[in-house]
Amino acid sequence: MIDRARLTEIYARERQDFLARHPRSAAAYGRSEHLFGRVPMTWMNKNAGGFPIYLERARGNRVWDIDGFEYVDFALGDTGAMAGHSPEATVAAIQHRIATQGGITTMLPTEDAEWVGAELTRRFGLERWSFSLTATDANRWAIRLARALTGRPKILFNSYCYHGSVDESLIVVGPDGEGMSRPGNVGEPVDVTVTSRVAEFNDLGRLERQLAYGDVAAVLMEPALTNIGIVLPEPGYLEGVRELTRRYSVLLVNDETHTFSAGPGGATRAWGLEPDILVIGKSIAGGIPMGAYGLSAEFADRALARSDLDLVDMGGVGGTLAGNPLSIAATRATLEHVLTDDAFTQMISTATYFAVGVQSVIDQHSLPWSLSQLGARAEYRFANPAPRNGTESAASADTELEDLIHLYLLNRGISLTPFHNMALMSPVTTTAEVDLHHSVFGAAIGELLGG
Ligand code: PMP
Repeated sequence: MIDRARLTEIYARERQDFLARHPRSAAAYGRSEHLFGRVPMTWMNKNAGGFPIYLERARGNRVWDIDGFEYVDFALGDTGAMAGHSPEATVAAIQHRIATQGGITTMLPTEDAEWVGAELTRRFGLERWSFSLTATDANRWAIRLARALTGRPKILFNSYCYHGSVDESLIVVGPDGEGMSRPGNVGEPVDVTVTSRVAEFNDLGRLERQLAYGDVAAVLMEPALTNIGIVLPEPGYLEGVRELTRRYSVLLVNDETHTFSAGPGGATRAWGLEPDILVIGKSIAGGIPMGAYGLSAEFADRALARSDLDLVDMGGVGGTLAGNPLSIAATRATLEHVLTDDAFTQMISTATYFAVGVQSVIDQHSLPWSLSQLGARAEYRFANPAPRNGTESAASADTELEDLIHLYLLNRGISLTPFHNMALMSPVTTTAEVDLHHSVFGAAIGELLGG
């Protein structure tokens, strides 16, 4: 349906416009000779314009670049800033902690930590919590505990999942149906099939066959895939996963780092799930580094009773700065005052408004696309029906089209997450801002189709 020559032509024009409008960002990028790949983190080279826009400031759901342009930000730090940029209550708590009280990292607990643990229990149900600085580390430590508690060596993942740079998780279902290292896996420590098994999301048959080997300690999954585009669970799938994991005595770990968008207690509460371990990170401290994992009281007690597990010093679980007073204060303020139950109601209703508007553009042009919504997050997919699993989802990617839409939007003041077509609503995102997205998105599609 899409004329590729036309796409290439519009994209070239948008690249030129982008370059012309961003001399300062272009110069900053050109000057950055001491950075690996010219950027603070190599994934920042994932941008549709050839170089990133450089941040001047950010507030709420708005971002300004050093060339003076303002953006409505639907990327929100790929969830890290789901609470909005520098939310007032979080900033006040941070300032109080570091300037008034003093103490950023001390190796001492603060009383706020128990408040945070209790709030996470209220939201997610798990009874005992421990903190990290990233979701990646929370996953790593949860995996170690799962192996220790079950005495089994392997972790099962869904193909094309993403749980951070966790060695075990970089596995996909290969063309021959066997597990293999994810393409591009950088310097894997051991063959990933030694540590891991893999199934397709929404495929209970394969999951059961993999669990039947009897060597899986835990299934670590997102209740909906979000990192290869949103892939929603089919009716009965998550219940089936829980039933199978119980039947084969395998722990179920829900990584709610992104699916937190489903509600104040993530997909776990919204959909009545019962994981044995829950991992979360990114957004819960309003953008300050923070991650957490929760365990049932029973698992926590079993782990603590094991004298062979060094949970206090160098046993492989924990980090020096984890649980620091600053991250904890920021988490308390964010959960207490910003990402509240009421805020989620508002964010989800804005996302529904987003979804309805995008669907009407899709319908208007009879595009073979679909729209997936996960609470406060929505995404357009270049496939209809929507992909059912990670492999199908990876196959439906259209990088050129994605880049064009991203840049078209960016040049007109709208930022989407760089990795796919995902839009996240903060508590302060308005329907007027969503309308702005829709009018630019509609114009991009109209131009692309030659209307
Ligand atoms: N889990 C999920 C589901 C994620 O989406 C991500 C990051 N995209 C992570 C874990 C890792 O988060 P971080 O990079 O902050 O460690």
